[in-house]
Amino acid sequence: AVPLVVAKSTALSAKNGLLIKNRQEFENSRKITTIVFDKTGTLTIGKFEVSKTVSLNSHYSENEIIRFSAALEQNSQHPIATGILQKAKDLSIALTPVKDFNALTGKGVKGTIEGKEVMMVSPGYLKENDISIPEGFAASDTETFGFLLIDNDLIGYVALSDEIRPESFDAIRILKQNNIKSILLTGDNKTVAASVCKTLEMESFIAEVLPEQKLQKIKELQNAGEFVAMTGDGVNDAPALAQADIGIAVGSGSDIAAETAGIVLVNSNPKDIVNLVLFGKATHKKMI
Ligand code: ADP
Ligand code: MG
Repeated sequence: AVPLVVAKSTALSAKNGLLIKNRQEFENSRKITTIVFDKTGTLTIGKFEVSKTVSLNSHYSENEIIRFSAALEQNSQHPIATGILQKAKDLSIALTPVKDFNALTGKGVKGTIEGKEVMMVSPGYLKENDISIPEGFAASDTETFGFLLIDNDLIGYVALSDEIRPESFDAIRILKQNNIKSILLTGDNKTVAASVCKTLEMESFIAEVLPEQKLQKIKELQNAGEFVAMTGDGVNDAPALAQADIGIAVGSGSDIAAETAGIVLVNSNPKDIVNLVLFGKATHKKMI
């Protein structure tokens, strides 16, 4: 028979947007000292919209920048790809075929289009490869950038904006009241990460991290004595979700993240994490 408290907490959880896959992790939720949040799709809505298209080469119009970018992104599931494909659709730009498509994990995408080597990459990739960022380019607090390279020349860029979920403010504030630190961990650029961290009054942020570095960061926090919960939505987040003491997958994310995590946020609402923490405490009191 299922003990009464267990049955009760399961029913409560379902009503509150939590799918408990691993009961031990659920029961351990009262021990959480730090929650590591991934940004896109968890603290933010995860819906990128193209806010600006800039051409840096007179041979390529802004529509050409979108045409090449969308051609590349048709094979990617990243929210950036969804935003760029929507822009192409809005402008009635047809999708050009791409060959040899490859994802550059955590940095961008590449492929061959009309015989040219085309890449869409992060600011971090430009820095690593000593490609100078164009004059007049100003990083923005709220925008994520995709730089378009054609045969290794920087041709232009696309700026995309996402929005903080309204529920994120309450979530972070209530966690803080319960002595739980919130840390932002993201593959996105430092300017955007710093802004989200400041706006939500989080403890700290770690930006421009690659998937394998996400796992490392979780280990570092654990070695420093923290009991760590982590939220994630992407295929990329799976190793870190597995390493965390409690892995929380965001419902709208990838199946792989959901399979790895002990808990799923069914409605992708960060505020449901507060319920998790408070339930964990309440359930424990009833059991002892
Ligand atoms: P996170 O999920 O933490 O935002 P990702 O590892 O998914 O991080 O992506 C990190 C960065 O890599 C993005 O902010 C972006 O700059 C770049 N990137 C990843 N995938 C793509 C893509 N399909 N198109 C353009 N840029 C991408
Ligand atoms: Mg992600």
